[in-house]
Amino acid sequence: MSNAKPQSLCFPVEVERIKSSKEGGLRISWSDGVETLLSSKTLRIQCPCATCVEERGESNHNTPLTPVSGRARLSIASEVKGNIYSLEAVRPVGNYALNLSWEDGHKTGIYSWALLRSLATNS
Ligand SMILES: [Zn+2]
Repeated sequence: MSNAKPQSLCFPVEVERIKSSKEGGLRISWSDGVETLLSSKTLRIQCPCATCVEERGESNHNTPLTPVSGRARLSIASEVKGNIYSLEAVRPVGNYALNLSWEDGHKTGIYSWALLRSLATNS
């Protein structure tokens, strides 16, 4: 048994968009006083939506990444565009997660506090 507190008990007290370099990212100040920095590239690569999770499961398979909603004409082929890592918008989802939108129109990823914290810890 571990005495470590579950990371899900932490929540952000401040989220700041960083626009350094060409991609930027998010700086998050947590309720336990820790400050983490996540690059937008890390966030995109770890997108938790069903489409991306499935895509990562088929990493040897260059299936197009199809948006789940919205701009239906947009089809992201295996040729990676530079701007898929460019954050367009950050919106809170209730009080438990962030919804991130990307310049290529992808916006189905819901990043829970626990996920954001674990990404920062593991990167
Ligand atoms: Zn996704």
